[in-house]
Amino acid sequence: MNVKTKKLQSIINAQNAQQWAKKLFHIFLEILYPPVCVSCGAEVEQTGLLCSACFAQTWSVTQPFCRSCAMPQKSAAFLGESGLCFSCETHPPIWGQARAAFTYTSVIRRLILQFKYSDREEHAAFLGTHMAQAGADLLKENTLLVPVPVHRWRLLQRKYNQAAWLARHIAQISGADYMPDALLRRHKTARLARFSRRERQHEMRRAIVARASRQALLAGRHVILVDDVLTTGATATACTEALYEVGVSHVDVLVAAVVLIDPENNAPENNAGKNDTEKTMQYRERQ
Ligand SMILES: [Zn+2]
Ligand SMILES: [Zn+2]
Repeated sequence: MNVKTKKLQSIINAQNAQQWAKKLFHIFLEILYPPVCVSCGAEVEQTGLLCSACFAQTWSVTQPFCRSCAMPQKSAAFLGESGLCFSCETHPPIWGQARAAFTYTSVIRRLILQFKYSDREEHAAFLGTHMAQAGADLLKENTLLVPVPVHRWRLLQRKYNQAAWLARHIAQISGADYMPDALLRRHKTARLARFSRRERQHEMRRAIVARASRQALLAGRHVILVDDVLTTGATATACTEALYEVGVSHVDVLVAAVVLIDPENNAPENNAGKNDTEKTMQYRERQ
């Protein structure tokens, strides 16, 4: 064995030892802290999962739903020939299609809020896996996943951009490309709550731009914009505009949860989240 091979062998051994140490550490952690439901804290088989009681309270977005805004419908009769809801037929969003894994009700709301304000990366695995399934028909070869950006001050508070974690996880599952820093949020937009919808849209447009160093790499790409929640669509619209401005050829939207516009019409019968109508509406008003 020459010196080079010996060196290589010792690196491989060190890597193996490192991997084993990591595995042992995880086993040790699981004995100390058994995996719990990411929503209620009950013990579960595997880290990053919901217990069966909590999962039963989630509502996945399945057919029929609007292709453009991902809003589930009580019946296919609410969709036009093009597969769009009345709202999208009259005012189509500037992005192409949208998909959501869940509706923004009870368990999912709790999960997303925990994910947003505490350091819970395991939520990204759970949500990201379901998002990859929901967006499977949009995730094609050469698709580029771009997260909705957060302002760097907010990044300092939260330490991470939760949309970027989701996008990274979806990229790992689907094999799509991932560009976490394609968009930039220049201004803080938290104060927008007191503005009218029109003013908010205007402010948002000024706030979100494509990063200059990424413009050449974005031109001509099919982008899927990734976010945790789709509410009024103001943020997604601003991001889509910024992407089109630098020559992106097509933008679709993929979110963990869609906020119901009209819970009476968008909620199916026996929806576990129906009692959340009031809270959902409050969330919409805060946006
Ligand atoms: Zn649970
Ligand atoms: Zn729609």
